[in-house]
Amino acid sequence: QQDGPEAREIAKYLPYFPFKGIPRFYDIGGFLYEPAIFQQIVDIFTVRYRGLAVDCIAGLDARGFVLGPPIALALQKPFVMMRKQGKMPNTVSSTQYETEYGSRSGLTVQRDRIQQGMRVLIIDDLVATGGTLSSAITLVKMLGGIPVECACVVELKMFINPPKESGLPSRTELFRK
Ligand code: IMP
Repeated sequence: QQDGPEAREIAKYLPYFPFKGIPRFYDIGGFLYEPAIFQQIVDIFTVRYRGLAVDCIAGLDARGFVLGPPIALALQKPFVMMRKQGKMPNTVSSTQYETEYGSRSGLTVQRDRIQQGMRVLIIDDLVATGGTLSSAITLVKMLGGIPVECACVVELKMFINPPKESGLPSRTELFRK
């Protein structure tokens, strides 16, 4: 962006958050505070997904709830919340999954939101190990939907193929499944 702050000022990261074992927490709060940048991000996704015949947009708890709705409105498509357990009534759930921060009980979605044959775009702020997105993909498929693509603003490349000794799963392998 020409007259605005530099990318490195916006894409700040904090060490040791949310707990000590995590070297860096990438904070998307910075670009949400810059309407011109937020708008650019929404526009980039809108242009891409206008051409991909998407029927609905599923946003992941919680920052997928910030990015998903403006894109859903721009495309004039339904927005569906994929939440952690116990937050919504009348839900279906995926099974337990692993993330950068450890084990999570499944993601949930309200019954009848994702219907047989629906083409679903999945949105979150960031992909690390890919565990959260994989769980969302599983849930869409369980309901007979078709996951068209997953969209994030930040990708942590260190998780694509982490060193064996780290004990972390390979994102390449996870997504291959
Ligand atoms: P994954 O399941 O390991 O890919 O982790 C991704 C999920 O954890 C997403 O829902 C992110 O919002 C969250 N997450 C992991 N690391 C970060 C980070 O550095 N900043 C913001 N969110 C993160």
